[in-house]
Amino acid sequence: MGSITLKQVAKRFGDTEVIPPLNLTIEDGEFVVFVGPSGCGKSTLLRLIAGLEDVSDGVIEIDGNDATSLPPAKRGLAMVFQSYALYPHMTVRKNIAFPLKMAGLDQATIDAKVNGAAATLNLADYIDRRPGQLSGGQRQRVAIGRAIVREPSAFLFDEPLSNLDAALRGNMRLEISELHQTLATTMVYVTHDQVEAMTMADRVVVMQRGVIEQAADPITLYERPRNLFVASFIGAPSMNMLAGQIAMEDGHPVFVSNSGFRISAPAHLASVAGEAMILGIRPEHTGEDSSLGPCIQATVIEMEPLGPHTLLIGKVGDEKFTAQMPASNKSQPDDVVDVYLEHSKMHFFRASDGLALRESD
Ligand code: ADP
Ligand code: MG
Repeated sequence: MGSITLKQVAKRFGDTEVIPPLNLTIEDGEFVVFVGPSGCGKSTLLRLIAGLEDVSDGVIEIDGNDATSLPPAKRGLAMVFQSYALYPHMTVRKNIAFPLKMAGLDQATIDAKVNGAAATLNLADYIDRRPGQLSGGQRQRVAIGRAIVREPSAFLFDEPLSNLDAALRGNMRLEISELHQTLATTMVYVTHDQVEAMTMADRVVVMQRGVIEQAADPITLYERPRNLFVASFIGAPSMNMLAGQIAMEDGHPVFVSNSGFRISAPAHLASVAGEAMILGIRPEHTGEDSSLGPCIQATVIEMEPLGPHTLLIGKVGDEKFTAQMPASNKSQPDDVVDVYLEHSKMHFFRASDGLALRESD
């Protein structure tokens, strides 16, 4: 079992409120990722769950029991850090066995658990090496092994892959996802990398300044971001944002951009006629195909060929705009290019509070 519930949990360091009161329930077996820019409070929130920091307010329940004032060792959780914190003079076997030895288990039980973890993590061939003789990815697996043998009710990961190069990060991402499927244990995973968050999580918790901006499965975050922050943070390259307002024409709402283009807007936006609005459209929902939807003009700054497609980096009025063009598009800097926007993929955000306005909300 490994459900974790945060009720009105807040954290202050001195006078600085790093996490205003927040609520979150992590279900047993769920893979939840906290993502957000550096300094937004991800590690602090994880450390509150782990018991490495005391809450300033609120209650933390683990499996329905109040764990708010339990010391870390009594919470039944295991934490894996970016710095592997392995003992350099000990072999892999001894590193993994360490928490079990500390707990006073007998040697036969320790051996069985260590061998099991080593097999799960493909470490059997390295079991007698020292950390200095391992690659970064292997070291991280040892650190995970040391967590596995404790059979925690949940794993807490704090940026465990940040020290690895890009290719290895991709591999380890897969391995941790597979591990989650094998163990079916709750995992709470902190990263600033939205790709990591999107590819690994059952549910992503997007944070900014200690506040949960949205908690949802990856596809919902991508398709229905709740506000400007989530819309900009999730997806690469970022969603384009064009400022303007909603006007009425012949009884129908129209988005009029500050740069001068007009696009028919969804009917429900009639209720916000006259309000400042931001139109959001992801680069991958734009192109040169006129059947997509409405057309705007972008002035090319540069073209970035990526192979499968080419990114047009340009400007619409004085706002930056990125369009995903076919590789065959050979536009040049300063060209003014027609860019079509996929009508059903446009997002509208109220400028006053950044909230997405959707028909069914
Ligand atoms: P993240 O992990 O998202 O990068 P952190 O949780 O580490 O962010 O930090 C959130 C904020 O709390 C930061 O502004 C950081 O400076 C502050 N902070 C973290 N730990 C302490 C501490 N022990 N004392 C004072 N401020 C802290
Ligand atoms: Mg951190």
